[in-house]
Parts: sequence; structure tokens; C-alpha cells
Amino acid sequence: MWISILGCSGGIGPGNRTTSILIDDDILLDAGSGVGDLELQQMSKIRHIFISHSHLDHIAFLPFLVDSIFSQIKTPIQVYGLPETIKALKDHIFNWTIWPDFSELPSKEKPVMQFNEMLPHTSIQIGERKITSIPVEHVVPGVGFCVQNEEGKNFAFSGDTATNDSLWQALNKLSSLDALMIESGYPDSMEDLSKLALHYTPARLADDLKKLKHTPHLLISHLKPGLETEIAEGLHNHLKEYDVTCIKSGDSIQL
Ligand SMILES: [Zn+2]
Ligand SMILES: [Zn+2]
Repeated sequence: MWISILGCSGGIGPGNRTTSILIDDDILLDAGSGVGDLELQQMSKIRHIFISHSHLDHIAFLPFLVDSIFSQIKTPIQVYGLPETIKALKDHIFNWTIWPDFSELPSKEKPVMQFNEMLPHTSIQIGERKITSIPVEHVVPGVGFCVQNEEGKNFAFSGDTATNDSLWQALNKLSSLDALMIESGYPDSMEDLSKLALHYTPARLADDLKKLKHTPHLLISHLKPGLETEIAEGLHNHLKEYDVTCIKSGDSIQL
């Protein structure tokens, strides 16, 4: 199983793309600006898109993606998310004002995109990969995802979250955890803002990692542009005993 980081930044700018992760060539976790760097032929191979939550940095390129491959695909793209996330996409994005409702185009009977409500703690099997939704703690209802390959190896993605128990409890139920992509959006000096925005800081992340029984490779994401150095220093100070990488768009790992 290939995991390609198309985007993982907390903002935009040269080299920075917002959250989007490609699993093999057909599954996407979030549709931030990172997906916009794929060739049209690569975009056309994406058949399943799992959305962690409704914030713009995680959905911004979903409308453009669907529009771009409209004439290229024969079966609808399946979009999965919490009921609240699907409602937000329908009400605020694919509402004919911001963007056409592609779940009715070219026809209601044969649309190019279909929405699927996916409750927390449920799984969907796609080929040899099983994707499980894990609730987290964010300003809007949100989940992370665990992707398990045919050998039982697990890659987990936190989505956006602050201190919580649900993510760690779900991960501890896995027999193993090989890699965990987790956010640390703010430096420790911005603790107050991180509590309002419900993102981790390095110190809070270190506290929560004590709840985890596994020792996965930590792939740190969602660093705010301009604060990367300060956040990385915090991670270095608090997570000395962990295998930590601050990932960037273009990185990939194989499980
Ligand atoms: Zn968010
Ligand atoms: Zn975000």
C-alpha cells in the first residue's frame, strides 16, 4: 500500500499544499489543495474520497477535482463523511451558488459524484484496504481515518484534533500501528489559540501520546506557515523518544 502525501500544510504558499493524502491510486483522504498537483489521468483514477471534516483546507479542491474529471469517468466518485460533513458540503459548497451540485450532474440517475454518510467507528472495505472512521475533537464534527492493508498493517490519519480520548482508544484496539499522521498545528507559545481552534501543540500532543500503547512512525502535519521552525523545535523537545518526521507535500511511504 502506497501512501502519498499530496498536501499536509496548515496554509498556503510556495511548496505548501493543504491536506490531501492519496492511498495507492484510487482512494483520497481529504481533498485540500494538494490534490491539484495530480495529472488529469491520476485524478481520474480516484474513486473514493473520505473527508475528515468540513473545514475549507480539507475540502477546497473537491469541487475542482470533480469538475476536472467530469468527462473522464464512467462511474461516480464516492464521497464519504460524517452526516454533518455531508450536509455542510451540500448546503454550503455544492448548492448551485458556490458550485454546481455534481451529485445531480449530468443527471440525478447517473451522477458523477455520490455522497455517502459514514458514522464514526464504521469501516468500508475497498479492494484489499479497509478504511475506518475514528471520532476526534475539533471545532466542527470531525474524524480521523485508519487504513489497513491486506497484511493487517495500519496507517492512521488524525484529521484535525485537539486533546481527546477517542482517537487513542480506537488506535489502542489495533493489533499494530505502523505510521500515524497527526497534526501539530500550533507552537507551544500559541497554547491559548490552539485551545480555541482545537488543534494540537507539541506539548499537548506529547501528553496525549502517553495514552498510545503503540510506537508508530509519527508523521507530523498541519504546521502553520511561518511557524514550522518553532513547532519543530517543540516537537524535538517533547518527543525525544519517538520516531518523528515533519512531513511535506511530495513525501510518500509504503506499508
Ligand atoms: Zn479543521
Ligand atoms: Zn485543517
